Amino acid sequence: MTRITVAHGDGIGPEIMAATLKIIKEAGARIEIDEIRVGEKEYLAGNTSGISADSWDKIRKNKVFLKAPITTPQGGGYKSLNVTTRKALGLFANVRPCMSYHPYVKTKHPVMDVVIVRENEEDLYAGIEHQQTDEVVQCLKLISRPGCEKIVRYAFEYAKLYNRKKVTCFTKDNIMKQTDGLFHQVFDEIAAEYPEIENEHWIIDIGAAKLADSPEDFDVIVTPNLYGDVISDIAAQITGSVGLAGSSNIGLSCAMFEAIHGSAPDIAGMKIANPSGLLNGAIMMLNHIGQNDVAEKVHNAWLTTIESGIHTADIYKEGTSKRRVNTEEFADAVISNLGKLPRELKPVSYAGAGNFEMKEVERKPARKKVLKGTDLFVHWSGTEPDKLGAILQEMETANFKLSMITNRGIKVWPDGFEETFCTDHWRCRFKNPDGGEVSKKDIIEVLSKAEAKGVDVVKTENLYSFDGVDAFSLGQGQ
Ligand code: NAD
Repeated sequence: MTRITVAHGDGIGPEIMAATLKIIKEAGARIEIDEIRVGEKEYLAGNTSGISADSWDKIRKNKVFLKAPITTPQGGGYKSLNVTTRKALGLFANVRPCMSYHPYVKTKHPVMDVVIVRENEEDLYAGIEHQQTDEVVQCLKLISRPGCEKIVRYAFEYAKLYNRKKVTCFTKDNIMKQTDGLFHQVFDEIAAEYPEIENEHWIIDIGAAKLADSPEDFDVIVTPNLYGDVISDIAAQITGSVGLAGSSNIGLSCAMFEAIHGSAPDIAGMKIANPSGLLNGAIMMLNHIGQNDVAEKVHNAWLTTIESGIHTADIYKEGTSKRRVNTEEFADAVISNLGKLPRELKPVSYAGAGNFEMKEVERKPARKKVLKGTDLFVHWSGTEPDKLGAILQEMETANFKLSMITNRGIKVWPDGFEETFCTDHWRCRFKNPDGGEVSKKDIIEVLSKAEAKGVDVVKTENLYSFDGVDAFSLGQGQ
């Protein structure tokens, strides 16, 4: 018996959760349930995160959480429970299998069976944003080596366990050479440990276009958080319906399983919702807790139901569908098919599937880090970079000289183009002219000169080399 935590959620949540639990219990799931309340009622009771301390305790104790969709109330102040749960519990991997069920569910892509493995904790989702000048705001994109290692290794281990042949990495490392470059580099390092699995890398833009056009060319895709967010919705949608896919959020200790759709308030209480998304999430949960026999039985019964044309309204189509059913009737049809295998759709086999031990991330020894300079970000409303250059040159010290000014990344001094559009946000690079080490005292000296001259420094970013390699981007056009 495995004790799990269940939240019935909002909108259609209670209806699809009841159907899901009924099916998996009938299939013999060996589970005991602790119920918790999350979502709208918790938010409106004054809990801005949508969950109480007591519920957190249950989730952390049981470590396995099956969650129905919830409604996040409109208006400010309410934090997304999904984002909070993922980050608070360290659920670093969001796994979304996206499969088409041609010809039973209409799709332009009859052959599609793709699993998106999305990094879930970092990237632009760190939510660190600042307004720096009148005209410019920034959002920090944070990518860590342990974060990349965990997600990339998870993708390869998943591929190995589920007999998948290829892992594809999507990044934009032609532009973001440090952040996406690190993700790609770690992908190449870890891919080498799995010679039996094919690997490839695509720049995200053309990769996403190919995915939308020829999803049959992909198997497992691993990608940073933001790209994963976007492409996993595209992938789910092009299977024919977002209402069918489930997803898992996996951490080293806890895991959360859910449907990918929301609480569908427009059809709440009508008892017509399709429980398939949550059921597919529950199947992933059963595999995760080692009950792959039950997972397989439920999945094959569900495929049999889909191909027999018993469909809820969202996927019902004259011609292909045979009977339009409500939520409960659909659940009963799946239950009546327990033990059967689909004839046209490929039956699943989960023998050997389950959870896998993730290797602890090995922290690398510290590298030799040398301070080479600093970028001063300056709020300045002038329009001529040469004027700013002249002011900043007056702030130079013996071993700290102005080497470049950029505006939104493009070099405007020295030798900029007058065509370049400039905002009030200037990145001014000070370095040792010999390329050697500088000290923080040099930075402090330049900063005090800036203060004395009334130069408005909104941020400093130090320039380092690691093991002799400069680890900062050049200016565009430099
Ligand atoms: P939604 O996914 O709830 O609904 C989009 C459309 O799809 C609606 O027309 C709905 O009727 C239909 N639909 C969704 N699931 C269905 C199902 N199982 N069966 C039949 N039809 C289904 O998206 P939305 O309307 O943008 O969001 C509604 C609420 O859900 C919002 O409060 C949002 O914040 C929340 N939401 C929650 C989650 C989550 O808890 N994981 C995810 C997404 C959205």
